[in-house]
Amino acid sequence: MIQFTNVFKRYENGHEALQNVNFTLQEGEMAFLTGHSGAGKSTLLKLIMRMEVATRGQVMIDGLHLSQLGKRHIPFLRRKIGVVFQDHQLLFDRSVYDNVALPLIIEGMDPKDIAKRVRAALDKVGLLSKEQFTPIMLSGGEQQRVGIARAVVNKPPILLADEPTGNLDPKLSAEIMQLFRQFNAVGVTVLIASHDLNLIGRMGQRMLALTEGSITHDGAPR
Ligand code: ADP
Ligand code: ADP
Repeated sequence: MIQFTNVFKRYENGHEALQNVNFTLQEGEMAFLTGHSGAGKSTLLKLIMRMEVATRGQVMIDGLHLSQLGKRHIPFLRRKIGVVFQDHQLLFDRSVYDNVALPLIIEGMDPKDIAKRVRAALDKVGLLSKEQFTPIMLSGGEQQRVGIARAVVNKPPILLADEPTGNLDPKLSAEIMQLFRQFNAVGVTVLIASHDLNLIGRMGQRMLALTEGSITHDGAPR
């Protein structure tokens, strides 16, 4: 589902953020991406979303060669990928419902279908009763759940997360991780960037470690 082959990324200023990265995530796999700040985690996620382009090598996402993907086809790629951010990037003047509905409205989905999908997504993250709240009325953990509901509302085959528990305490972090596991259990391919080695260790899933842009570990958590 996600395949990196000899991938290099050099930014305009000459900085080599990724060097010869090779890995494959099969459909339905779940893995963590770890490494110190500046190791290249965000860059790797941006290459998957085609927010950045590899300088060399090949990134393949669900059969799409991203180096050959025309601009017109980027929305088609993005619909395959749900993204969860550390700061969840919610609209604070809109209801929970509206926040989750947004990707479907942009897609031009029929409003009747939107209501059904939004409620299914909110149900999965345990927030059905709060659909009319605004994010300000929610706790940090609940806000992150809204971010997750928004990421999965169009049922993407791939779910990416960039430090999704960065602002949460250990108990809430564990709960958020259980949600990712639930989506993985129904076949979603999940890749989570995190520097929280304790949390990753407890999850017992495959771990990819980046050190200064190179993969230095791929396997069981250290
Ligand atoms: P991480 O997510 O692991 O903290 P990043 O992928 O954000 O790492 O960054 C990897 C390296 O690339 C860092 O040294 C960072 O300063 C550099 N970098 C990131 N984005 C850019 C950019 N747009 N231009 C130049 N250098 C960048
Ligand atoms: P429908 O409106 O099609 O009945 P459901 O919400 O009942 O949708 O979901 C059908 C199944 O699809 C559920 O088991 C759900 O967990 C699963 N599923 C598969 N991929 C995803 C995804 N990315 N996000 C949410 N659910 C998903």
